[in-house]
Amino acid sequence: MAEGEKSISGLDLSKKWREATDSCAELLRYLREQVPQIYYLDTESHPQEEELVQRRLLYPLECFLFGEDPQDALEKLKQGSTSSQLCGRVFKEGETVYSCRDCAIDPTCVLCMDCFQDSVHKGHRYKMHASSGGGFCDCGDVEAWKIGPCCSKHDPGTATAMETDECAMEPGLCDRAEKLFRCLLRYTTDMLVWEESLELSAQLQPSVKGDTYFCVLYNDEHHSYDHVIYTLQRSVKCNRTDAQTQTTLIDKEGRWAVKKGSLLSCQQAKDLIRFNSEHISLQPLRVEILHAAVMAHQSFALRLGSWFQQIISYSVGFRQVFCQVALEPSAEEDHPCLISRLMLHDAKMYKGARKVVHELIFCSALMETEFKRLFAIEFTKHYLQLQKDFINDDHERSISITALSVQIFTVPTLARHLIEAGNVIKVIVFTVMELLRDYLDTNNRFHFQGYNSDKFFRVQAIFHDLRYILISKPTVWTEELRKEFLEGFKVFLGLLSSMQGMEEVKRQFGQHIELEPEWEAGFSLQMQLRHILSMFQDWCSSDDKLLFLTFKECHKTLMRCSNQPFHSEASDFYMCKHILHIRPYKVSQEPVSIHLPISRLIAGLYLHLCRTGAIQHLHKYIDPESCDYTLFGEHPLRCVVLAAQVSAEMWRRNGLSLVSQMYYYQDVKCRDEMYDKDILMLQITASKMDPNHFLMLILLRFELFDVFNGSSSGKDQELLKQWNRLTEEMLYLLIVIIGERYVPGVSHVTKEDVTMREVIHLLCIEPMAHSSLIKGLPDNESHETGLESVIPKVATFRKPGVSGHGLYEVKKECLPEFNPFFYHYSKSQYSKAEDSQKKRRTQEGNDKALRPPVPPAFCPTFSGIVRLLCCDVLIHVLRRVLQRAVEDRATQWTEAMIQRALHLIAQALLEEKCQLETSTGDEVLFDFSLKARKIGSEHGKSVFHLLAKVKVIPSLEAQTDMIKWILQMFEMVKCLRENSSPTAALSMETTKPEEIGHDKEKAERKRKAEAAKLHRQKIMAQMSAMQRNFIESNKMLYDNMPDSGIQGEPIPTESCVVEQKELCVALGPHRGSTPAEREVLTCILCQEEQEVAAQSPAMVLTACVQRSTVLTQCRGRILTNKADGTGTTYPLFMSPDLAVGTHTGSCGHVMHATCWQKYFEAVQNTTRNRIHAELIIDLENGEYLCPLCKSLCNTVVPVIPLEPLKLNYENAEIVGQHLTLPRWIQILSARIKGLKSINEDTESSSHDEDMGRCGEGQADFRSILSFGVQEPRKFSDSIAEMLVVCATTVHRVGLQTGPNELCPYVPTMAWNTCAFTIQAIENVLQEEDKPLFGSLQNRQLAGLKAVIQFSGAQRLKSSQAVIQQHFTDMLGVLLPAMSRENTPSLFEVDFFHLLVGLVLSIPALYQEEAVDLQPSAVSSAYNHLYILHLVTTAHLLQVLLSSSDFPAVAAGEEGEEARAAAELYVTVAQQSGGLNSDVSGSAVAERVRRGMAPFLRCSALFFNGLTGVPPPEELSSTAVTSQGHVEALCSYLALPSNVFQLFQDHRETVTPLLHRWCKSPAVTKILKSEIQAIRYPRRRNHLIDLPEDYSALLNQASHFQCPNSTDDDRKHPTLCLVCGTMLCSQSSCCQTQLEGDDVGACTAHAATCGAGVGIFLRIRECEIVLKASKTRGSTYPAPYLDDYGETDPQLGRGNPLHLCPERYRKLHQLWQQHCILEEIARSLEVVNVMFAFEWQML
Ligand SMILES: [Zn+2]
Ligand SMILES: [Zn+2]
Ligand SMILES: [Zn+2]
Ligand SMILES: [Zn+2]
Ligand SMILES: [Zn+2]
Ligand SMILES: [Zn+2]
Ligand SMILES: [Zn+2]
Repeated sequence: MAEGEKSISGLDLSKKWREATDSCAELLRYLREQVPQIYYLDTESHPQEEELVQRRLLYPLECFLFGEDPQDALEKLKQGSTSSQLCGRVFKEGETVYSCRDCAIDPTCVLCMDCFQDSVHKGHRYKMHASSGGGFCDCGDVEAWKIGPCCSKHDPGTATAMETDECAMEPGLCDRAEKLFRCLLRYTTDMLVWEESLELSAQLQPSVKGDTYFCVLYNDEHHSYDHVIYTLQRSVKCNRTDAQTQTTLIDKEGRWAVKKGSLLSCQQAKDLIRFNSEHISLQPLRVEILHAAVMAHQSFALRLGSWFQQIISYSVGFRQVFCQVALEPSAEEDHPCLISRLMLHDAKMYKGARKVVHELIFCSALMETEFKRLFAIEFTKHYLQLQKDFINDDHERSISITALSVQIFTVPTLARHLIEAGNVIKVIVFTVMELLRDYLDTNNRFHFQGYNSDKFFRVQAIFHDLRYILISKPTVWTEELRKEFLEGFKVFLGLLSSMQGMEEVKRQFGQHIELEPEWEAGFSLQMQLRHILSMFQDWCSSDDKLLFLTFKECHKTLMRCSNQPFHSEASDFYMCKHILHIRPYKVSQEPVSIHLPISRLIAGLYLHLCRTGAIQHLHKYIDPESCDYTLFGEHPLRCVVLAAQVSAEMWRRNGLSLVSQMYYYQDVKCRDEMYDKDILMLQITASKMDPNHFLMLILLRFELFDVFNGSSSGKDQELLKQWNRLTEEMLYLLIVIIGERYVPGVSHVTKEDVTMREVIHLLCIEPMAHSSLIKGLPDNESHETGLESVIPKVATFRKPGVSGHGLYEVKKECLPEFNPFFYHYSKSQYSKAEDSQKKRRTQEGNDKALRPPVPPAFCPTFSGIVRLLCCDVLIHVLRRVLQRAVEDRATQWTEAMIQRALHLIAQALLEEKCQLETSTGDEVLFDFSLKARKIGSEHGKSVFHLLAKVKVIPSLEAQTDMIKWILQMFEMVKCLRENSSPTAALSMETTKPEEIGHDKEKAERKRKAEAAKLHRQKIMAQMSAMQRNFIESNKMLYDNMPDSGIQGEPIPTESCVVEQKELCVALGPHRGSTPAEREVLTCILCQEEQEVAAQSPAMVLTACVQRSTVLTQCRGRILTNKADGTGTTYPLFMSPDLAVGTHTGSCGHVMHATCWQKYFEAVQNTTRNRIHAELIIDLENGEYLCPLCKSLCNTVVPVIPLEPLKLNYENAEIVGQHLTLPRWIQILSARIKGLKSINEDTESSSHDEDMGRCGEGQADFRSILSFGVQEPRKFSDSIAEMLVVCATTVHRVGLQTGPNELCPYVPTMAWNTCAFTIQAIENVLQEEDKPLFGSLQNRQLAGLKAVIQFSGAQRLKSSQAVIQQHFTDMLGVLLPAMSRENTPSLFEVDFFHLLVGLVLSIPALYQEEAVDLQPSAVSSAYNHLYILHLVTTAHLLQVLLSSSDFPAVAAGEEGEEARAAAELYVTVAQQSGGLNSDVSGSAVAERVRRGMAPFLRCSALFFNGLTGVPPPEELSSTAVTSQGHVEALCSYLALPSNVFQLFQDHRETVTPLLHRWCKSPAVTKILKSEIQAIRYPRRRNHLIDLPEDYSALLNQASHFQCPNSTDDDRKHPTLCLVCGTMLCSQSSCCQTQLEGDDVGACTAHAATCGAGVGIFLRIRECEIVLKASKTRGSTYPAPYLDDYGETDPQLGRGNPLHLCPERYRKLHQLWQQHCILEEIARSLEVVNVMFAFEWQML
């Protein structure tokens, strides 16, 4: 169809509709005809379908809307501003969202990444977390933020343009929009809620009803992916791939047509699906058959949903019209508005439809303040129904309409409006009650036995709504608001009274309970209510009148509650001449409940009355007579007693559920609305009652009354024990009631004081991390604990190291606040804190008395409590307790009891002292000290007397200090009372009491002396124990380091260095000696020592061979280092880009070869039988863990001793005169030629000529032998065997090939790993700025030496002919005369690898047919020298040629080196013709020196390892200049310190070589810059730079687009830290194949990027993943820390994170030192491998 035709028809159609009398009917007629045609096409969505929809349906509609071509109209619309004031971005699951702790009204206010980055909150205390999907960005919402509501993009500056937008919309357009939207939205709504599957409404019923049907499968939460795939494969005859695709679509869209056909065939498919699915999971899948026309209209309706979104985004005017149409009351009576119809149908709709509807609501009604209000009212109106639907819905909450509540209830003005207009509190609480009605018993109390946890969980979501409503309490109370709130409060009390006394427990006698009762439900209800309760109290307290009214209501409700009634009448109880008239109740015998929300709420409200001072007017509202505080306190007291009895193990038979409940009752998650409120209620009661009566009540309820009244004497041990425990608990309760005053209202403290005290007490247990502190503190409804504002006042921060986390330590000046009986300590915390504080006091030289802190004074209403301390009953109780200890009947008292009694006495004395200090002695009625001295004194049994006796009880030695301090306090109080100088008394506290004077001092001295002696003895014992331990645990480690200094190969001693100073040369005629030394090693397995010797049984070193790209210059290039790698010359020649090398590392532990073999076999056998062990150890790869340090290893290296050697310098001198470089080359050539003819017999004669040119005279085949030969070394069989083991592994791993010990590349791989390992070590040393020698870790040094010796000796186990051939091929690079067709050019080899290869293979040339020979020491010295000279020369040229852009010649002074450099440069320039000839010689010299340094450093390491000749001192120090360093290197390597000198020294040899080298085609190409050559020094690789601020990474990740898919499903962007590539991990879209297996993107990437080793940062999880092979990996903490020095895996806490460079550096080192594998193996050993992660799919 042509373009013109199309537009005409669209405009024509729209004109026709416009002109019709009923446009809507006309339009629907058109849809009736078109829609089925378009959507009939197929089940799969065709690209054609969308095109047709656009052209034939949407285009005419848009024409109708605009009255002209939509394109033109849109252009006009765009003239006016269409940007919105609100951001409104809807979050996808997993997207990172930000909240500001400083500015957000509540934590639900969030910003999207883009808005956050542009907002002021970036510098505030923000939080980040992953969205669970749904919800939108609150940027621009002025009610969501205290400050900075908009980012710079959504600044209201642009809003003015918006306001006028509506006016700008011309009336005609407005009118048409209204008509069209009304018509289409009704159509959409009708179709989405349509429930007939086979028929349509009369209006849409097609004229001819075809026989096409769809069989539609719905998504549910019961069936797994695999179930659905299975069912589909069996039911609709599709293959697995199709079934997978369809299942994915069903899951994503919520429904999908799996079959199209006649009614009959669809019916059959439906039955099959139901049958097959029921078969596997008892519940059939939901399948329906839809007539094609119904399906078509529903599909189009959904399409219209997104069309609406698009249209209303064009203009605010459209949006408003849309909202109006959606929310206008229906024309029909009692029909809800369109939007409500959609909401009410939500739970019946499938996922895809819901999403569209929700998004439409987001971008329409929720974006306009007024319409948001109307929508909120509609939402509240239908709230009950919506929640009921949600409970029965099987979808998650995030795709339920009920999740929208957070968008409206959290808006403060809206919340208030909804309370006033719709009493939303009442609605919500009523909904909860309605949904929990089934759980009410006959007493109208909840009983959750056998509850449905899923439904119950859904009910809990409703509590969030109640919390949202209460988030911001009103500042102004209107009469209306007060009334409606009170109304809601009453309903809420109704809910609480159903909880009051619910789930009573009764103590079990005799038998253990059979079934643990259900308790979680009740507690989760309580936890949900926790913040709501405190918020209600907050609201109530913000208005005095309301506070009275709510208190009154609460009181009324409590009086109505009838839980745990008394069963007996009141009677009289006597004690110390006091009578208590009360009804008896025994917790241990009658039912008791932990749930007392009404009692606790009343305590909370009472506290607020005290805090505001309104308490004095309470009598105006409630008759004081009706306030029986004893009754108020009754139930909380029972609950506290229950806790005490449980802890006294009286309820053991009631099982674990009760223990758990008691735990939560006092836990930080519940305690503020449970335990704390019970204590508060008891304090209220205590303040109102006569103290003696109160104490008698406590004794009665603790069932200790008779025990203390002397009328009970038990013999039963069990019972005595119980009494003791109860007494401890009872005394502890008294300590708490009297001493715990840190509650605003109880005393004059602020919230901050309270938090401070909590923090101090937590830190008195031990230094803690920030996150542990947060966990230990109660949070408020905004998840804030107030920690940050107080922590600097009470603690000092200790920074974290490279691992671990930052810790807070309590400040010393806060220690006097420490109360050992702090009521929020758990049992274990209590003992830990006591221990650590006593230890601390001892360390600081103080006594061990943990004095009670001086508490803040009670507020007037509570001041009566202190009377408890000096009442008769307490004195009586104290005396009883002390008396029992004095009588010392072991079963009748405990130390804990005495400790608590002492604490109480100390509290009393402190109180008395305070009172005396503030007023004169006569006025003070508090007379504890007097009573304590007087009562019972006639029999010497007053408290004071008893104390003195208790002091000397040996078993109470730990309390002596405390008792001493108490006795001092008695004296001080006495002084105060007698009005003697208080200062004298005061000083006594700190110094010693003088009255006891001399004796005391003497005793003290003696005690101190004894203590010191004891201390010494203890330390000695500790020391020797420690030493023993240390020796045992480190023995193996110590004895076995080859260079531990005790035994083994010593680092040259001082004298040695001085003596041989001139001999610090490793090669050539002046070569130093190889020291002869004994090396004795201890096997870590059998602990036996053995000397290392060539003929002895082998000792082996653990080792791990791995491929490595750490040094690569071409990261990510496909690595083809296969043995048969076509096109490359590897493994004989290493390419200069070091693409992939073979590294051999060791943990440095030594074993007998035989011991290792036994161990290895055992490991293989046990591992095979262990589940999942293959994840740690790959048996096929010969892996095992080092028996000592658990490092991952895959082979062993035999330890081969150095061959002691001393050069005869005279001989060397003589040989030197004959063996010049040209002669040496000649001799070699002759030898090679001869060997070749022996080996091949037929060789062309062309070589003869070539070789002839190398020297003036002909050399003899055997003349090489004349310069000195000797017998090769002989090794024991076991060493020989181990040489093969190691070489085979290196070959197998390095070339990724099967084991083949006969492969000709076995020796070359040994040389390669030697060279590469040295290069890696040189790299590490350079990176860490350490000297070349003397700074390696022992394990590195041991490994390096072993590898060099192994590579040198390996030759003996190979065919000499093969090695001779390798030597010839390698030499060809240097001597073009010998080169063959594929010999690489100067630019195609790494010369260090070449050097190692040549040096280690040349001895093979000495092999004679009948006798094994090798070069003598002198021969070797010259061989090494000349090889090094040649290689160095070639490398020099390589460096020179690959450098360009030298500065032009500088005028003036240039040294000899510069002249030589310039000269060489000119020569080369002439030869190659590609260089400028006019350059600065010094620049060239400098460049070459720098370029060659790594090569020289590696060579020095190599020759040192090979010969053992000690290096010059300069190389063990960093204090040497680079110039001095190079000179030292050259002298050690017998090179001229000016390397250009080589060209002059060997001019006649080198000049022709130079010519040949430069003429190579490859060289020409490079000089013409056709190929990029490697530059020297080579680039040193680093892990990529990471941003300082973690949110920058999150930002980067949010913009990440998966290269293979466009859907917006949750992705895991993962960053390769080696090369910086961002990958799409753990996602099917980016899976690929690797060696025939399906692997994830990261695994595939690691194979090319790191030769299997990978270091990845999972950005959304903030976690590093280390990968070693396809199936192996582990996590590692990311190097990002929050301000408190802690990492945050999974961003669980969401604090701002910053890069910790030290930690990142450590990771970098792990990588460079090839320790990633080791790290993985170690972490896998630790974690539970049962829940192994599928690393392959990463
Ligand atoms: Zn935003
Ligand atoms: Zn914004
Ligand atoms: Zn902020
Ligand atoms: Zn052994
Ligand atoms: Zn080890
Ligand atoms: Zn990478
Ligand atoms: Zn992907």
